[in-house]
Amino acid sequence: MPATGCRSAGALPQTVDEAFVKALPKAELHAHLSGSVSMKTLHGMWSRKRASGRCLKLLDPLQAMLSIAESVDIISFFPLFDQYIYQLLDDIESVQEATRSVIRDFATDGVKYLELRTTPREHAQTGMTKASYVHAVHEVIQTHNNSYDVVCEQSHDIKVYLILSIDRKMTLEQANEVLDLAMTLRTGCVVGIDLSGNPARGDVETFTPVFRRAKTEGLHITVHFAEVLASATQRELEVILSWEPDRLGHVICTSEDVERTIKERRTGLELCLSCNVLAKMTEGSIADHHFRKWRMTSCPIALSTDDVGIFQSPLSNEYLLAAQHFELGPQDLVALSKSAASIAFGDSQSLRASLKTFETYFQAQGYGC
Ligand SMILES: [Zn+2]
Repeated sequence: MPATGCRSAGALPQTVDEAFVKALPKAELHAHLSGSVSMKTLHGMWSRKRASGRCLKLLDPLQAMLSIAESVDIISFFPLFDQYIYQLLDDIESVQEATRSVIRDFATDGVKYLELRTTPREHAQTGMTKASYVHAVHEVIQTHNNSYDVVCEQSHDIKVYLILSIDRKMTLEQANEVLDLAMTLRTGCVVGIDLSGNPARGDVETFTPVFRRAKTEGLHITVHFAEVLASATQRELEVILSWEPDRLGHVICTSEDVERTIKERRTGLELCLSCNVLAKMTEGSIADHHFRKWRMTSCPIALSTDDVGIFQSPLSNEYLLAAQHFELGPQDLVALSKSAASIAFGDSQSLRASLKTFETYFQAQGYGC
């Protein structure tokens, strides 16, 4: 589904179209599980829960999410999860159904490598604990990946990994609990930890011991970085950079000093075009997005969706938007996908192989890759 409000009437390079970006094997590195659930899946859960007398006060997701998607901004974004989406994803069955549907949706969009991230949650009324939540998600991914190993030659294959997120509202003890869960499952599909949540909340210094421990233990680190001015003080950014993160998400309100450090380290960047513009995190249109600036550096970039269930722009559409607004041709988009693969935390070998096959095929078709 194309992004609403983000498409320009500008001409595409002649050989890039919707079929091309969908067929392009892609890596999605910045996708929140709960924000990636489709309205259709949420609607199915809502209908079943209402039939059993639950969630009676919640609006139909087909209505609620559409109106939210049209008016969401960074201020109204976070309450949306607490007040709506988490009310539907409140038990193990729903969480597992959501995970399966998200994997399926990304696979259908031509994503071959997926890192989902999620914050461990609990729900007293259904008995869901943070540990049971994480194990439930992990089980779905492991089951998927094990079946993938058998059928990896099929067209809709996708390799999936998990990142556990620490919320900025957490205490040090709660953050350590997330890291402990990640450590427990690192022999499975967990590849790293993340810092996310409302950027106006919390003091990142609280989490320094946790991220230092993660680094020592060999887990990968990605951090939501300089999303808004409130989370972009020189002190905050320096604290986060002292953790030596492998990747940074968003990277919007940065100073020259900070940008110099990121460039010197060639840190991987997860950039989200539609999310940033629709949530009004950046000024102007997609053409004004800082993707243009960072593309001129040697930092590897992974175009990402962040919350496709809300912003309604699948990864293929993000590549199409990049082609439209930054004058990228087929070869540029293949290079962009390779760039994302180069900063994957898990094993991206099969994605690289798919990209090679794709490149060869489209060269033969005269796409100029
Ligand atoms: Zn995010």
